[in-house]
Amino acid sequence: MVSRSRPSPPANALPSAAGNPTKTARVGVLGLQGDFSEHLTTLRGLGVDAVDVRRPEQLDDVDALIIPGGESTTIGKLAQHYGIIPKLRERAAEGMPVWGTCAGAIFLAKDVPGHPHPLAELMDITVERNAFGRQIDSFEADLDVDGMAGGPFHAVFIRAPKITRIGPGVAVLARLRDGTVVAARDGTLLATSFHPELTHDERFHRLFLALGKG
Ligand code: GLN
Repeated sequence: MVSRSRPSPPANALPSAAGNPTKTARVGVLGLQGDFSEHLTTLRGLGVDAVDVRRPEQLDDVDALIIPGGESTTIGKLAQHYGIIPKLRERAAEGMPVWGTCAGAIFLAKDVPGHPHPLAELMDITVERNAFGRQIDSFEADLDVDGMAGGPFHAVFIRAPKITRIGPGVAVLARLRDGTVVAARDGTLLATSFHPELTHDERFHRLFLALGKG
């Protein structure tokens, strides 16, 4: 049983889905495949009521959703199998914040060249899978993140995708030194090529939670 108690004041500033300020906001993490438990741990460490989402109807009970890193092909297939995609599109259209990390960012993108598998196709970006090649299968980099105080964000990339096109309404939040876009925001949608859930720096989770403020 997950404890619903939290430190005061809560880090989570999201309004609740029901619009009831006395109801505690709840954040879902899509738990079909990948490193969802690391996201849940980070969120709970921030005092957020965080739940594992596996069925479409659960999306009505969360105020925001994170799609974790893992294998985008598997996440896409399972999301389609369980009927998650139409409900996710509906909730995102209502303004529910959604954040994809790595495979999650691939799943969120409107355009993934050559992808044979289902995607949510929500965010106006093009994402290329496994775009860093085998030599740098995994690497780490310190990123200057737009609007993030407290110095560079140490980012872990694992068979990471590149964000190769951003739509007109999309803001770049971070680039590698060679200019490659690795974090972007499209309204209440957030995509990162890397894994903030794998490091002990919760600033990206806080940034995501703040997207629901208004
Ligand atoms: N390469 C994986 C994919 O294409 C993503 C890897 C990750 O999430 N760390 O789905």
